[in-house]
Amino acid sequence: MTAIILQKKVVNDTSLLLKTISEKGLLQYFKIPGILKSQKRSSMLLSAGNIWNFTTNNNIKKTIIPREFNLVQSPFDKEVKYDELKQIAELLKIFDFFFSNLELPSLYKKLYSLLEKWPVLNLDERNNKINRFYLFFLQEMGLFNFSDLCQKCKKPLNENDYYFLAEGTLCETCGKSNIVLDKNYFSYGWVSTCYYDKSINVIDKYNNLSRANRNLICNFLSESI
Ligand SMILES: [Zn+2]
Repeated sequence: MTAIILQKKVVNDTSLLLKTISEKGLLQYFKIPGILKSQKRSSMLLSAGNIWNFTTNNNIKKTIIPREFNLVQSPFDKEVKYDELKQIAELLKIFDFFFSNLELPSLYKKLYSLLEKWPVLNLDERNNKINRFYLFFLQEMGLFNFSDLCQKCKKPLNENDYYFLAEGTLCETCGKSNIVLDKNYFSYGWVSTCYYDKSINVIDKYNNLSRANRNLICNFLSESI
């Protein structure tokens, strides 16, 4: 079973407990007993963001102890830089938070393909992908309407050149005429503005959300990323 590691925790001093999203798109825990005693190197690669294949005895349990495990793909370069670690940590934190709450099976493919091409993306492209993740989750909750067309002039958007607005996305030309917008910038602060600023239209949509989704957003905003 292929799975993407979302969190790694040391248990009983020498074992690892891995929180993952499996290829079935479901939350799956794996326990690797004693690995910190015998295989320090592998244990480093059993960290968040790495994709592994776990051979199991087909038992459907909440926590599985795999018979074998092999690395499939790692988003990290050989020499890991601090900025890169921080970006992946942010990406996985957003993902983990929303996945654990929304449990959308389609999320596995989304994260897999992103981590797969992560090594060839530059810093700006990676930030852009992180922004897209924020937008995707807001969209899933009905708070944001992401379109590949400019909301004003209806022209197709260039993937790396667009502006965000609470009501949708704008192209370079239409975006430039609005000085309050930040180009390609989307962040925790932006979500928070949407949430607290009653003058922004998104609040009307927010009022129609289910109680569960409202709580989800409240929790998201109370966590610092
Ligand atoms: Zn436009």
